[in-house]
Amino acid sequence: MGKRYFCDYCDRSFQDNLHNRKKHLNGVQHLRAKKVWYDLFRDAAAILVEEQNKRPCRKFLETGQCDFDSNCRFSHMTSGDLEQLVAQVHEERLSRDQETVEVPEGSIEDWLEKWAKRRSSAQSSSTLSSKPVVFQYPPGWPPVQDLPPSLRAPPPGGWPQQPSVQWG
Ligand SMILES: [Zn+2]
Ligand SMILES: [Zn+2]
Repeated sequence: MGKRYFCDYCDRSFQDNLHNRKKHLNGVQHLRAKKVWYDLFRDAAAILVEEQNKRPCRKFLETGQCDFDSNCRFSHMTSGDLEQLVAQVHEERLSRDQETVEVPEGSIEDWLEKWAKRRSSAQSSSTLSSKPVVFQYPPGWPPVQDLPPSLRAPPPGGWPQQPSVQWG
């Protein structure tokens, strides 16, 4: 049994050799999975900026169809979609701020009630923003075991304590 290569995008593993890996990484299925993954995990703010910099795709907005699909260099977002995205960006900011939120003036009960409302609205309208952030290596990187130690993420709980060394 040789090493196995695990593809995060496709959520599957296969025997790790150059041939398999090349074949997999260039496969249609992998490229599609990678794109979906990107779209899911990309920051809504980044998407918003990107979409706002594109001109609207006339064809898509008129017919609801476009041959270029998600590869189109024009935006397929309607003004409603953009509004939704703006709301999502706003929510993501809110949920990020919750970690360092300050107790405002007024009673603690008021604050807790507001907080609970905000939390439930953030959760119901966007499951993405309530997901805990999981560390991911940048896409396209070699598997962890091939990375130099300085580029590896620390193990859970941090690096082990190094013995102290006296330099002479
Ligand atoms: Zn893959
Ligand atoms: Zn288009």
